[in-house]
Amino acid sequence: VEPARQRDLRTSNHAGVLGAVADSPEPVSRARLAARTGLTRTTVSALVEPLLSAGLLAETGPAPRAGAGRPAVGLRLSGERVAALGAEVGVDYLAACVLDLTGAVRCREVVLGDNRADSPEATLARSAALAARLLDRSRAQGLEVVGGTWAVPGLVDAARGRVLLAPNLGWSGVDAVDLLTASPHLVGLPLDADNEATLAAVAELGHPPRGLARGNLLRVSGEVGIGAGVVLEGRLVRGEHGWSGELGHVTIDPAGPRCRCGATGCLEVYAGQEALLRAAGRTAPATTTLGEGGSLAALVDAAEAGDPATLAALARAGTALGLALAAAVNLLDVDAVVLGGIYAPLQRWIRPGVEAELATRVLRARLRPVAVTVSTTGPDAAVLGAAARVLQGVLARPARLLAPAGW
Ligand SMILES: [Zn+2]
Repeated sequence: VEPARQRDLRTSNHAGVLGAVADSPEPVSRARLAARTGLTRTTVSALVEPLLSAGLLAETGPAPRAGAGRPAVGLRLSGERVAALGAEVGVDYLAACVLDLTGAVRCREVVLGDNRADSPEATLARSAALAARLLDRSRAQGLEVVGGTWAVPGLVDAARGRVLLAPNLGWSGVDAVDLLTASPHLVGLPLDADNEATLAAVAELGHPPRGLARGNLLRVSGEVGIGAGVVLEGRLVRGEHGWSGELGHVTIDPAGPRCRCGATGCLEVYAGQEALLRAAGRTAPATTTLGEGGSLAALVDAAEAGDPATLAALARAGTALGLALAAAVNLLDVDAVVLGGIYAPLQRWIRPGVEAELATRVLRARLRPVAVTVSTTGPDAAVLGAAARVLQGVLARPARLLAPAGW
């Protein structure tokens, strides 16, 4: 029997080799992997074999090489076998996608429909059925989905897979992962759940998450509520319980209106979508960027047409968002604020207020301005990030996918 310590070392070496390939934008030779990991060439070759046979790595043809010597075979992540499921329960839609190990989207589906009126059990059953359809389509492409993550707009106990509080869905204390795991569609698949704004920030880092241009950022998700993902030094900061980034409940004015959370004057009552709609004189329910989108499209149309109430509501929301973000940037010294969700289509009207408050209130702004950018991951960010998180787990712990005989 192999001693435990030696087994642990091999496990971490497999992850080291796989990670070094993932970090490389180009296919990388075994010799270069040895140089990068500090392992011998023989050890690297021995570690690569099971990763190849498990379908985690693939070889590329010998690259033409200048100078003498045998051309080297390159190694890259394989998109042929291992894949991950991302799923999302939004306020007015269900979404799911499957990414292969290279991060390519292999299938994706969104089902529109308001989930606020339904029970959590019924909503999760429909979400499981949607996921099952994508699992079937993935199998037909020769992929093996090794796990799934569910994105939910609320506070999640990720370790227990329990949605503690999702006010905009009307959920509290929902054992989401237990309910999903019990679904006949998803038997045996390792599942977990996390906050949608956190997972949207994972998507902002890309997969594989290599060489971030901006290692310190705040990614704002404005949908019906407002959340944020915090990335410091290239890593997602989850906080003690995974509940960081509740930007929507930062106080803008203690004397302000009551928020759904019970406090007064939170950012959400000024810049949340329901507040925006109300201030713009609209009565339709709030919708999301990936969902029905009707209320949002109406807001964009009214702003483009120069409707004064809408423009005033958006300017007020931009200022409030800027106030909350200025406090966060003073505290965290992030280099960039990325606007996602409804703030992407509304950025023309939201961004000036955000930039003005950041310029005035952030101490370091006079030394180096804070970049305000619009998310390029689109309305899919949370569901893509959910699948990317599963893939990150594969890169960090590939051992469970390797045949025991290989090591
Ligand atoms: Zn609040």
